[in-house]
Amino acid sequence: MTELALINAKIITVDKNDSFQQAVLIDGRRIKAVGTDDEIMSLASPDAQVVNLQDRSLVPGFIDAHNHLTHQGAAFNAVDFSYPAVASIDDLRKAISHAVEYTQKGKWIRGWGLNYEKFADARQPTRWDIDDISPEHPVCAVHVSGHNVLVNSVALNQANVSDATPDPDGGKFARDEQDRISGYAYDSAQQLVVPTSVNVGHHGPDIGYDLPLEELVDDIDRACQAYIKAGITSIVDPQVTTREMPGYMAARKQGKLTVKVTCMYLSNHQAAINELGITDHIGNDQLSIGPMKYYCDGTLIGGTALFYPDEPVQENGCRCHVHDAGRGYTYWPDIEAFKETLIDTHGRGLQFGIHTQGDMALDIVIDAIEQAQKRFPRDHARHRIEHCHGATKEQIAKIKQLGMIPITQPGQLYETGDDLTQMYGEKRARYFIPLRDMIDAGIPAVVSTDAFVQSYKPLDAIHAAVNRRSLTGRDMGQDQSISVLEAIRAYTHNAAYSVYQEKNKGSIEVGKLADMAIIDTDILSVATEEIAEQDIYMTISNGEIVYQKQR
Ligand SMILES: [Zn+2]
Repeated sequence: MTELALINAKIITVDKNDSFQQAVLIDGRRIKAVGTDDEIMSLASPDAQVVNLQDRSLVPGFIDAHNHLTHQGAAFNAVDFSYPAVASIDDLRKAISHAVEYTQKGKWIRGWGLNYEKFADARQPTRWDIDDISPEHPVCAVHVSGHNVLVNSVALNQANVSDATPDPDGGKFARDEQDRISGYAYDSAQQLVVPTSVNVGHHGPDIGYDLPLEELVDDIDRACQAYIKAGITSIVDPQVTTREMPGYMAARKQGKLTVKVTCMYLSNHQAAINELGITDHIGNDQLSIGPMKYYCDGTLIGGTALFYPDEPVQENGCRCHVHDAGRGYTYWPDIEAFKETLIDTHGRGLQFGIHTQGDMALDIVIDAIEQAQKRFPRDHARHRIEHCHGATKEQIAKIKQLGMIPITQPGQLYETGDDLTQMYGEKRARYFIPLRDMIDAGIPAVVSTDAFVQSYKPLDAIHAAVNRRSLTGRDMGQDQSISVLEAIRAYTHNAAYSVYQEKNKGSIEVGKLADMAIIDTDILSVATEEIAEQDIYMTISNGEIVYQKQR
């Protein structure tokens, strides 16, 4: 294999000194040398391929540490219910009517991204809003959060769900004044109306359709192709069950798994993992099993996150009709049993990641990890807090003390910041995702996307973390902004660290995997308001150029 020399670049190495370099030499899958153009050219063999990057920024390949790859692949291929394509109930009806025209009778109409908080008519849509236009198709509109879905009456009938169906543990059905199910299924109630292949019970939200394996592989292929073009070379899938795993295995076999994937097994598989005696990460660079995944509470934008009541009590509500925003619930009906499970998993040596959004939910988790460390002291447990968006200053201190890693998605501040402000009040919303305080406390916080929930593009998330402005320009807590350099570190080194892969990737250093993204400009000198508009010029994975922008 010939060597590849990338010269005349602005290399953001993300090494421990945050040093900048000019050139890098790649030999096979790994980085052989980093230095000046002269140094690299004198080391390169005569037949090395040389690429002049003309002062473009070169960064470690982006590692999206929380990315629902299979769902994003499905969303690319489904009806677009997201804002601004769908900005009213009328738009929703039009989108469904259009889909009815080209969808075979009886087949599902599936779409993603619905956000009724942005509707000017201030109402949550119901099945009665869409039944007349879809009498022969089951319809499922996945909410932007992924934690609730709107279905029509055909879908409810197929699922044998009636007004008499009780709410399950960790979930709810929205109901009208007469207690009739109005079509919205929250959190664990989703799998009662979506035809999923796995019963995850109260372990999490499940919107994964039961698909033929080829369709699942197509979804994975579609997502990988888009990710490579965005400079993403690795992801962590935060919810893998017996549905996703065969898809990843088949995609790898067919050479379609071009993005490296670390799987977080959902806790419904806990007994099997324990029985198998798995106590550590296993797999290889391309596909591996990483931390166990748990859910504590619901979601910010869906309104089911679990917060302490705000003081003074905020009058902000959401339009979800089942509760006030932030007065959500836990997935596990028995909190003590949940804590004991976390302590047991820690005791077995496993790393885990726990979804928490509200401060009350985070306290449950902090308490469990504190007890776990007392009973089974362990350095570098690196338990991940997925989202961690409602952390308080006191909780940030605890996170540092316990060596936990917040896996944040600042893209939410941009995309739904206006809605969150309306739901939770300005004071609370501006302190969501307090990255400045986390980094200042010495916590290796991670920036990721939660794609499909937010844009999968790394530069969109970095833009949001740096600028902290909403879609309409609202200040989403400028004092919690971080620098571009900090955001890149959070997206590369810290992301690798969160799954024990920092010795292998996440920086441009000798011996590491040659996974890189080259941005089409010098990202440190463009105006911060223009970060999201920059293109990816080239992506390198395992030492090979896998994408190059066409002029
Ligand atoms: Zn997620």
